[in-house]
Amino acid sequence: METPRNPHAITERLREGLSRIGMAMRIDEWNRSKASGLNPTQLAILTLLEGRGADGLGVREIAAHLGVSQPTATDSINALERKACLKKRPEAGDRRAVRVVPTAEGLAILKASDTGDGLAATALGALDDREQEDLLLTLVKMIRRLQVAEAIPVQRMCVTCRHFSPFAHADAARPHHCHFVDAAFGQRDLRVDCRDHDEADPASRAATWDAFQAG
Ligand code: SF4
Repeated sequence: METPRNPHAITERLREGLSRIGMAMRIDEWNRSKASGLNPTQLAILTLLEGRGADGLGVREIAAHLGVSQPTATDSINALERKACLKKRPEAGDRRAVRVVPTAEGLAILKASDTGDGLAATALGALDDREQEDLLLTLVKMIRRLQVAEAIPVQRMCVTCRHFSPFAHADAARPHHCHFVDAAFGQRDLRVDCRDHDEADPASRAATWDAFQAG
């Protein structure tokens, strides 16, 4: 049998593959949406706000994290407010700006909608430990590159956190250290959206990334 000719660069085929995974994730989002009575953007806003604490987020931050325009974010925020899923508070020092925080009702809807057994989670669960860890490291690398290019906001990942010391320990199973909880942890425990994240300054982030890569 003739070896199939490959008309696409591997980056193109990877992009196509990621697009298929994205499709499965969108189906999961719509299924959660049907169960909750909120649309996927409204659910994404509640997910973003969950764990942000009493300060919540501003409309501009929400729009940037979701990759949508401020008017689109505002429409969804207003809809969530009408459904009593969130509240707006005036920004300290700027009464024209608002902070958005979820209500107990909103968080309850979010929790009830997350069954944790969607298509994407099932496919990820079928990978073995090594494959999961390799995929996590690849995703961290890709997300970091996107945020360095300022295509996406800084994510609450260990590699951008001032509490993170990569490869601080000789233990190969738990080489990293989190100074927030003062504990060692392993590669597969690296966080992508940690509520205790404290953004390091740009120079520290670059140094941490170099140490992480060198390890
Ligand atoms: S606080 Fe969170 S993001 Fe920061 S190092 Fe610890 S686990 Fe990672």
